[in-house]
Amino acid sequence: LTERLQNAMSKLRRKGKISESDVKDAMREIRLALLEADVNFGVVKDFVKTVRERAVGTEVLDSLSPAQQIVKIVDEELTKVMGDEAVPLNKSAHIPTIIMMVGLQGAGKTTTAAKLAGYLKKNDNARPLFIAADIYRPAAIDQLQTVARQVDAPVFEMGTDTDPREIVRQGLAKAAEDKNDYVIIDTAGRLQIDEKLMQELQDIKEIAKPDEILLTVDAMTGQNAANVAKSFDEQLTITGVVLTKLDGDTRGGAALSIRAVTGKPIKFTGQGEKLTDLDVFHPDRMANRILGMGDMLTLIEKAQTDYDEKKATALAEKMQENTFDFNDFIDQLDQVQNMGGVQDIMKMIPGMSKMPGIENVQMGPKEMGHMKAVVYSMTPAERTNPDILNPSRRRRIAAGSGRSIQEVNRMIKQFNESKKMMSKMSNGNFSGMDQMFGK
Ligand code: GDP
Ligand code: MG
Repeated sequence: LTERLQNAMSKLRRKGKISESDVKDAMREIRLALLEADVNFGVVKDFVKTVRERAVGTEVLDSLSPAQQIVKIVDEELTKVMGDEAVPLNKSAHIPTIIMMVGLQGAGKTTTAAKLAGYLKKNDNARPLFIAADIYRPAAIDQLQTVARQVDAPVFEMGTDTDPREIVRQGLAKAAEDKNDYVIIDTAGRLQIDEKLMQELQDIKEIAKPDEILLTVDAMTGQNAANVAKSFDEQLTITGVVLTKLDGDTRGGAALSIRAVTGKPIKFTGQGEKLTDLDVFHPDRMANRILGMGDMLTLIEKAQTDYDEKKATALAEKMQENTFDFNDFIDQLDQVQNMGGVQDIMKMIPGMSKMPGIENVQMGPKEMGHMKAVVYSMTPAERTNPDILNPSRRRRIAAGSGRSIQEVNRMIKQFNESKKMMSKMSNGNFSGMDQMFGK
């Protein structure tokens, strides 16, 4: 998928202005990317339209290729659709703040209720009380009690024979008595939305007047997530969404659909079964995840600001002429260092981070410092003409730089190898870097 997107993007390079047909090609890929990420069809249609309108005729900035510019627009629009900023939980002016969990069965209400309690205790020094209002599955109350114990918060329960409305009434009285500052109501779910459940939830809402009605949605349910969110919002007027099970192999397209369809903010995401696996929702990060771009954008931005285009062109020429020397080598090290180091850069390239052994690439600031020391101990003649580096010169360099003779030998060997590789690359066998930087 990512590859397909990148191919479309690379086709767009080397153009001065973004034309209608440029955008058409790119948009086809983006539409597919979104559908594959399980974004609701109608939402994709609207989204693509917005991006197209913005992109066509856009003047390509000098520092950007058309491809980069479209990626940027897509990313910005995705982020915008999802709400730009993280939205915090509502908090009541007087205690208790009442949070009502709603959602289909298995979506993660009970788990998320406990995660939230843990989060509030940690960040707000809260003393939450749970109310066990799911009486339909015998195990539901036990489950709530188990997770409540793990986050060390009390549960108000009346077994499975009392009406949930009554349980909520009495639970709230208990919270008032104990001066709890948060109440989290764990309600029942169903496999599908049904009348009876909705009526019950509406009644509980009427009784509790919650500050926050949090809809829990399973991110793995894909396309259906938006429909579920729409129904719940229409019938209960939710105040926020928790998107759970994002640790699964989902692209999280539900995040885009839900926000677009309901207009309600996603406030948290669930990233695992552990009770600490709760994260504040960040639209910009989700945008990248949905597009599957890794941190491609960060990379492009880093390249824009830090990579000196003139130097890069000169370097490419040198590579072609095979006159790359140790002075260029130092320049290159500097540029890599400005961009945040080799490891950081590689991690940002989609797919790279999964490459075996990537953690072992030893090119941190320390290693780069050593390499520079060696080069600085060379005479100008040696730097421009590395072929003259005979054993006695190498010994002198080792002594001068404080590095061992083995290290100096190794580095010269590496230098010669990369030089060989570069001349191959510049003869058209490899254009990865070239594509990446839109040169
Ligand atoms: P409820 O029926 O809505 O109360 O859902 P539960 O809280 O009982 O959760 C249903 C299942 O989903 C349980 O096995 C949870 O452990 C699991 N679950 C909930 N949230 C997450 C999550 O963010 N990631 C993963 N992997 N599992 C989750
Ligand atoms: Mg439950």
